[in-house]
Amino acid sequence: MIEPPEKQFTIALAGNPNAGKTSIFNHITGTRQKVGNWPGVTVEKKEGSVWKHGCHLKIIDLPGTYSLTPFSIEEIVARDFILDENPDVVVVIIDSSNLERSLYLATQIRELDCRVVFVLNMADVARTRGIKIDAEKLAELLDLPVVFTVGNKNEGIDDLLEKAIELAESEFTPPQKRKVKYNRDLENAIASVQTMVESSLGDILSYGTRWTAIKLIEDDKIVKERILEKAEEQAQTVFEEAVRQRRLLMERFDEEPEILTTDERYGFIAGIIKEVHTTAIQQRVDISRNIDLVLTNRFVGFPIFILFIWAMFQATFTFGEYPMAWIEILVGGLSSGVNILLPDSLFKDLLLNGIIAGVGSVIIFLPNILILFFCIAIFEDTGYMSRAAFLMDKIMHLIGLHGKSFIPMLMGFGCNVPAIMASRTLESEKDRILTILITPFMSCSAKLPVYIVLAGAFFGARAGTVIFSIYLLGIVLSIITGRVFRSTLLKGADAPFVMELPPYRVPMAKSLMIHMWDRGKIFIKKMGKIILLGSIVVWGLTAFPQHIDYSLDYDTEIQGVIRKYDAYRPVSGSDLQQDIEARRDREVEELKAARAAEKAEQSYMGRIGKLIAPVFSPIGIDWKGGVALLTGFVAKEIVVSTLGVLYAVEDSTEPDALEKALASSNLTPLTAFVMMVFVLLYMPCLATVAAIRRETGSIKWMTFSIVYTTTVAWGVSFIIYQGGRLLGYA
Ligand code: GDP
Ligand code: MG
Repeated sequence: MIEPPEKQFTIALAGNPNAGKTSIFNHITGTRQKVGNWPGVTVEKKEGSVWKHGCHLKIIDLPGTYSLTPFSIEEIVARDFILDENPDVVVVIIDSSNLERSLYLATQIRELDCRVVFVLNMADVARTRGIKIDAEKLAELLDLPVVFTVGNKNEGIDDLLEKAIELAESEFTPPQKRKVKYNRDLENAIASVQTMVESSLGDILSYGTRWTAIKLIEDDKIVKERILEKAEEQAQTVFEEAVRQRRLLMERFDEEPEILTTDERYGFIAGIIKEVHTTAIQQRVDISRNIDLVLTNRFVGFPIFILFIWAMFQATFTFGEYPMAWIEILVGGLSSGVNILLPDSLFKDLLLNGIIAGVGSVIIFLPNILILFFCIAIFEDTGYMSRAAFLMDKIMHLIGLHGKSFIPMLMGFGCNVPAIMASRTLESEKDRILTILITPFMSCSAKLPVYIVLAGAFFGARAGTVIFSIYLLGIVLSIITGRVFRSTLLKGADAPFVMELPPYRVPMAKSLMIHMWDRGKIFIKKMGKIILLGSIVVWGLTAFPQHIDYSLDYDTEIQGVIRKYDAYRPVSGSDLQQDIEARRDREVEELKAARAAEKAEQSYMGRIGKLIAPVFSPIGIDWKGGVALLTGFVAKEIVVSTLGVLYAVEDSTEPDALEKALASSNLTPLTAFVMMVFVLLYMPCLATVAAIRRETGSIKWMTFSIVYTTTVAWGVSFIIYQGGRLLGYA
């Protein structure tokens, strides 16, 4: 004979659809389950049993519902089961990643005054979403046991069964504290109906009187039918009281009482959520909202934005100065080392005046560029970038673009290649092409060395302002051309969009470094390939042909100068001797420079320069400038190294040296300014052109971009140069 198990409990699993009930049910029951339909209705009924801790447990998987308000078959089935079968324990399974929505059903079941275990399922999902639930507090507030589970991984299920059995075995006392409390009027109504229920129906009902009173105030048809079935006579007085209370409530609140109770339950839930639920995300959203009150404010937002941009450029220059000086020393050391160690040869010339001078004159700007990228990475990683786009939205609409297009444009200040790649985030193809076309007018960091050298040579203390005006000119022209394109080539309205404003985040140092480095790498690669090659080509074009018929026999001349001064023979160490030596050196240098200039003029580079000179003469740029600009197509920085070679700066790694050479050349402040404007506007560099080709997927747009930028550059330069001359500038 089989001995009957000592204890037998029925455990019902309730919960929202997809909360994980069936997963948990399957884990508990294994294969011992029956699947059928609930009597009378075709709602799946799953039943299983298991022996655990010396108890026979009958487990029922109730249909998933969002509430117990009897509107759907599932809701009625679930509620009737709890009311009629009176399970020993109801396990409420909740999706803890969605606590607020799940709690409605839970509070309703709680109101039924049965034994309830709360299961916070999907604990893994909640964890990854940064949701924290204070289970202890929840247990205290609702006066019931709470367990965490991961339904599909069988985690916490044993704990759940243990708690359920413990609860089933315990002396049952209806929870006194913290059940859903309604407002005073509702509570009064409930109380008077409850009194009637207790006095007339007390012995007949198998479930709580308070709950019955609430349902009667909600005018719950099913509950009324049940009461009528059991005690038709007594029911009438109770119903009358309920109707009376309902009318009172309607008069007072002008709402159906069932809407009032629902509202109150949601209020209760909101209170619970406040107490037990913290989301890292939620907190961030709140903090972000507060920060945004200032940063995207209509009045102060924009000035703050300008301040940030100003600070970015300020940081780029001030912090960049120190590492720049160190690199200068390194390159200088390398160059004097090569000078001393190697005998004079063509190879030495290539190494010194081609490679070291060319790459060296550019690499000193690496710190500036890295700092600029670092600042942009801060903007991006903190979430400020999208605020900037949001702020710029109005201005961008002038071009017929929306704020999102501003992100590529701002990045264009760093480098146009990642900027053009960033335009990918724009949904509309026309917006994307328009953004790609105007981004090259954003002065990239590679053009900066050119400005620094030219402005430094010709504008002295006003150099900063002049450079700022160049940047401004780029922005203004991008707006104008954008406007023109929008109303001609790329007609159409800007696509409507919602600017996502992600919560602010404290950027991680590592991620900032990675972002800075990802883009800085492009610059360094460029140095290793394009600029190195460009420098060699430029050097080759200036070094050859090697044999030139000079107009003067420079060697003899130099010897003559040296002999002339040596004839003085003053007392060694005297002031006179120093003076004489200084004069001698100066004269020798002048002769050497004249020779170098003549050599450059007769070199292949010089010949090319002469060929293209007619194109540049209307804008006041001589053949040397023209050649420098031509080589700048490879990479804008090369303009500087070409100028260095053409103006025969011996030590062109030092910007000062080039500045001095330029200052004493036939350039004027006006032509220097024109040259800067031209560098700002003319065709994008090779890498950018390739990026445009890639991102627009069309050679047509690439060619168009080259042609129109160069045309605009020439046109604007022409206006400035000729206008400047009319105004009396040289
Ligand atoms: P029911 O509608 O309440 O019966 O939910 P199911 O048991 O059918 O589960 C719905 C889905 O959620 C299934 O794909 C389960 O594998 C998955 N699931 C259940 N519990 C968990 C859990 O704790 N964590 C995660 N990540 N998924 C779960
Ligand atoms: Mg299910």
